[in-house]
Formats: sequence, structure tokens, C-alpha cells
Amino acid sequence: MNVMDANDMVCCPYNKTHKMLRKKLQQHILKCREIYKDEVELLVCPFNKAHLIPEPDFLQHTRTCIDRKIVAHYQQSAPAPLNEETKHEKIETEENWDDEYVPDYDPQQYVVNANIVREPNGMFPSQRKAFIKQERKRLLGEDSDEETTGSEQNMKLPTKANSTGTQRPAPYKLPNRNR
Ligand SMILES: [Zn+2]
Ligand SMILES: [Zn+2]
Repeated sequence: MNVMDANDMVCCPYNKTHKMLRKKLQQHILKCREIYKDEVELLVCPFNKAHLIPEPDFLQHTRTCIDRKIVAHYQQSAPAPLNEETKHEKIETEENWDDEYVPDYDPQQYVVNANIVREPNGMFPSQRKAFIKQERKRLLGEDSDEETTGSEQNMKLPTKANSTGTQRPAPYKLPNRNR
């Protein structure tokens, strides 16, 4: 029997003497529910939500429901076995980033050797003067002992560094790095 047949006749779950076309069933049930709701409780089939079963028949229906076979088929089927197309070899690699020793980036350590003009922030005036002098030596070389005013204006224009450029580390090159 083709359940999709438009002329498929079905029984009302509230009263088996009510017979109607399947497509009329939902509408019919709404009417019968008003009549029988105090006598008969309909339960929903666990295999098909369209099956409404009176409670006394429920257990029997769950044993014989045609949709039970479809569900049972999937429940009892073994999982698909792995084959060559669904497997791949374990990926081996010599790289292990956890083993590689790279020193932590220390900005204070970096600027000591970098060709960057440091700002004497948070210093007393005497400390600033000494710091600026030290920075000039660091950036321009130890031989740049010529007396300067030590002002910060001069600091920001290390003109001599452009002409000599011997003792400066290359810009952007991190110290203590092997590769
Ligand atoms: Zn009915
Ligand atoms: Zn059912």
C-alpha cells in the first residue's frame, strides 16, 4: 500500500469507526479531540510524529509501527569502517617550537644596543644631563667627546652618526639571536 496515495483511507485515533482520507485526518482529529479529550489521551509515536495513538494502544503501536523498522535499521547498522580514503598517515615533523630556545624580547635590553635615541624620561635634571651625554657617546661613538650643550635638540639630530656609522649595530637587528 502506498501511504502517499491521495485516496489512502485512515481511521480516527479517537474512534476507529471514523474513516476519512489521510489528508483530512489532522482536521478531523482537532474536532474529535474536543469530543474525546476527557476520555482518550492521544500519545505521539516515537518513530513518527504524525502517528497519534490512544494511550491503551500505545505500547502495541510502538512494537508494530512501520516507521520503527526505518529507525531500527540505522540503530543497528555498524559504523562505516575506515578505509584508505578516510585515513591518513601520522604527520612527522622535525620542528618543535617548544624546544627552540629564543630569549624573551626585552625592550630595555634592545634599546641599549639599537640605533634609537632614548628619551630621558623620569629623571632628575642632573641625571638627564648625564644620560644625554652617555647616549651621545653610545650613538656617536666614544670619540665624540667634543663639548656640547647637552640639550635634547642636539640629541635628536645625531648628524655625526650619519657620517661615521662605524660602531652602530645594524638597525632592526635583534641582539643575541643566532638566526
Ligand atoms: Zn474521530
Ligand atoms: Zn508510529
